[in-house]
Amino acid sequence: MAVNIHNISMGIAQAYIIQDKGTIMVDCGCPKKKKCFIKYLKRFSINPEDISLIIITHGHWDHTGSAKEIKEITGAKIAMHVNEKDWLEKSLKHLPPGTTFWGRFMATAMSLYRPFINVPATEVDMPISDNEFPLSEFGINGKVIYTPGHSSGSVSVLLDTGDIFVGDMAMATFPLMISPGLPDFAEDMDLLKESWRSLLDMGIKKIHPAHGRPFSPEIIRDLL
Ligand SMILES: [Zn+2]
Ligand SMILES: [Zn+2]
Repeated sequence: MAVNIHNISMGIAQAYIIQDKGTIMVDCGCPKKKKCFIKYLKRFSINPEDISLIIITHGHWDHTGSAKEIKEITGAKIAMHVNEKDWLEKSLKHLPPGTTFWGRFMATAMSLYRPFINVPATEVDMPISDNEFPLSEFGINGKVIYTPGHSSGSVSVLLDTGDIFVGDMAMATFPLMISPGLPDFAEDMDLLKESWRSLLDMGIKKIHPAHGRPFSPEIIRDLL
């Protein structure tokens, strides 16, 4: 069976459903996206209980927002890096600093909006360490790789096909970016670039960001 990749729009961020022998999900989008999630399941004829694992690329609210509801609907386990599992378990709403003029402007705008965001807390079942986390037991040929920089607990999901799901290691859509590139927000840009160099050395073929359409690794290679 070929791998199916479904891009699902969950507010300002996208989540992905990946189907092979098993089915997993990457990220959970913004808060209050339960209805939207169910609509996509119907559209793609996916049974909620087929999803056995949810990997959250990092702890920002636009990626964790609907995690509790999606976990309840699917019964899936949630995996997240140990550095940020508290953010979901305690409803913390960290914001990354802007690294460009536009990023700093957006970070200020988001900090004003932050009091109105509510991320329902839920337990992280599988804390991910800095080591690779294989996905074979979930019926997926691939692994989770620790890729810090945007935040200290950022991870990426790499399939054997060369498709990689990078969360916010890159951004490719307005208002965050106008064209695909490194993000306007990062806790540590040098570390982010180091994470990208390691990924490029792994022969990645197609980058799937959480904000925007997929794009070629050559774009990142040119920027580093
Ligand atoms: Zn983020
Ligand atoms: Zn994001």
